[in-house]
Amino acid sequence: MDIAKIREEYPILQRKIYGHQLVYLDNTATSQTPDCVVDAVVRGYTTTKANVHRGVHTLSMEATELQEGTRRRVKEFINASSTDEVIFTRGTTEAINLVAASYGGAFFKEGDEVILSVMEHHSNIVPWQLLESRIGIKIRVIPINSVGELDLDVYRSLFSEKTRFVSVCHASNVLGTVNPVKEIVAEAHSHGVPVLIDGAQAAPHLKIDVTDFDADFYAFSAHKMYGPAGVGVLYGKRKWLEMMPPYQGGGEMIETVSFERTTFAALPYKFEAGTPDFVGIAALHKAIDYMENLGVENIAAHEHELLEYTTRRMMEEVPGMRIFGTAPGKCAIISFLVGNEHHYDMGMLLDKLGIAVRTGHHCAQPLMHALGVEGVVRASFAVYNTIDDCDRFMTALKRVAAMLG
Ligand code: PLP
Repeated sequence: MDIAKIREEYPILQRKIYGHQLVYLDNTATSQTPDCVVDAVVRGYTTTKANVHRGVHTLSMEATELQEGTRRRVKEFINASSTDEVIFTRGTTEAINLVAASYGGAFFKEGDEVILSVMEHHSNIVPWQLLESRIGIKIRVIPINSVGELDLDVYRSLFSEKTRFVSVCHASNVLGTVNPVKEIVAEAHSHGVPVLIDGAQAAPHLKIDVTDFDADFYAFSAHKMYGPAGVGVLYGKRKWLEMMPPYQGGGEMIETVSFERTTFAALPYKFEAGTPDFVGIAALHKAIDYMENLGVENIAAHEHELLEYTTRRMMEEVPGMRIFGTAPGKCAIISFLVGNEHHYDMGMLLDKLGIAVRTGHHCAQPLMHALGVEGVVRASFAVYNTIDDCDRFMTALKRVAAMLG
């Protein structure tokens, strides 16, 4: 891949921060957006803006076709069997809330158990906790080992006749660990239990094949995969989606409405109440084309090179370096602390040198607790990052570590 050429599509990377060339290493939180995707947003607003599914006029039909075209594109991208199984949401968070509220709200009863893992993002914990307080379900938690992999022996031991659901991430936003989702799903299915996979961190780096995984639900966000903010996808197997009640009520999701009786639209619209971000959805199409034109495996290979290079230099050149998550095959995410220095101080000082990293608990407080820390610094890579970025990061990191140390 010609990274210099790729970078030309990201004017934001030319920004100076406190007089320094920006080095953007906060890709796990959100990736930057290439011109081709931004152009799709601009085109959406300047040439085809009209509400979808409601009009017979040309603009509305074009806008609808753009949205439904993205649905077909997503179906291929994740290898779903039907576009009826592709639901547009605001993001991963809304997708998980949809499943917890609709599936859990309808089918769980007091004492039922849901299995999560300790490495989950809050958005795959709190929606289930809402059911804990509303219905009285119990949450069981898969722990991790010393390198940050799920302990699958404990996972297998957590199943009982009360287990109703499993919800785990495909890749951790802190440790970078890529979980063996096929194995996790197969185990749950041997107990007759459905599985949701939070793919927020997998979609930008890994090939997604919901049919191969046999996932019951799969969720991801466009903004982490070079796409627009405010758009996400929930994949769900038809058999579950048909059984599940609507999540929200409103326009688009109905067939007929009267004060006596309302009937709901067919899939996938039953779960898409209200006007969606149809411009963003159209731009997601471009983001998927962009990733697939580059090749998801080429993107991952490039990021991996940066990961290995930077990890090695961090361990060799920064005294007191501690990296959290060292599982083989991890995504290009490095969470770390240096000695006893506070993550926030490090992040602030790195920013003054033009380096954008994230600090804090990364919406994974239970994981921080398990790691015995309050927060960490996280550097993460995307396709447009270069070895030069890694070198600038290392120079800044060594300077900050020396200043604080
Ligand atoms: N799940 C994981 C693993 C994440 O990393 C994130 C965001 O960082 C989310 C869920 C939530 O995604 P969003 O805020 O796009 O809904």
